[in-house]
Amino acid sequence: MSYVEVELVANAGVLVSYGEVNILIDGIHCEDGHPFCKVSPTDFRLMKTGAPPFARLDYLLFTHEHPDHFTPAMVGEQLKHRPVKAVFMPARRCGSNELENLYDLVREAGIEAQALGLNPGESKKYELDEGITLTVVGTRHMGPQYQNVPNDCFMLSLGGVNLLFTGDADHVAEYYEESLLSVELDAVFVNPIFYHNSEGRKIIRDIFRSENVVVYHLPSDENDPLQLRLTVERAMEHYSGCGIHTHIFQEKRQKLNFGSSNL
Ligand SMILES: [Zn+2]
Repeated sequence: MSYVEVELVANAGVLVSYGEVNILIDGIHCEDGHPFCKVSPTDFRLMKTGAPPFARLDYLLFTHEHPDHFTPAMVGEQLKHRPVKAVFMPARRCGSNELENLYDLVREAGIEAQALGLNPGESKKYELDEGITLTVVGTRHMGPQYQNVPNDCFMLSLGGVNLLFTGDADHVAEYYEESLLSVELDAVFVNPIFYHNSEGRKIIRDIFRSENVVVYHLPSDENDPLQLRLTVERAMEHYSGCGIHTHIFQEKRQKLNFGSSNL
């Protein structure tokens, strides 16, 4: 089996590396108005200049257009400096004027754009590079106030390693059953609410059935008004004894490797 590295950029922003291919998920955002970490100006500079860890950026994936995941204008800025092979993002109808502008920019630049925002439970498969496939699974954003916001989950298969990134997906079993019940996941990335919620826990145990659960989308310890870190710590007790290994993914540049023995 090959080796996949996942590195935390900011909040639910992660850089997935496999061989020479780098995939950035929810990793370009710079807006305020939430307690979560933004992508730092330093990281934007590194992205623009192609410096490590962003020496290669092949695909940009965005689960949904919320300011702690995806700033379309910033993506446009980035693409002017360095084009990518393809951008996967919510369809125009799901978003803002800035999102529409990004679609125009991407088209003019001749960059492939995949318009997502799939219906809940719907899935679509894409071949990215050799040995890499992406399965997009449609869900809704969690929280009653966001039920009209589509949230696409990304299941990346990289040389036999299967990683699921759920963004802010709601904990509704029907969204996942059909497309994921037969998949052997090596790790699933969930936010603290999904991890803590009893329906979310059932989905993690019965549908995802992954030995490794990575909790991402955590604020810093110093600025945690929603007490999410405490929420996660309380929830960890519910998982004890069921063979699930929880990883807290909170520190910038923190890395996890899959498909090797150092978990
Ligand atoms: Zn979020």
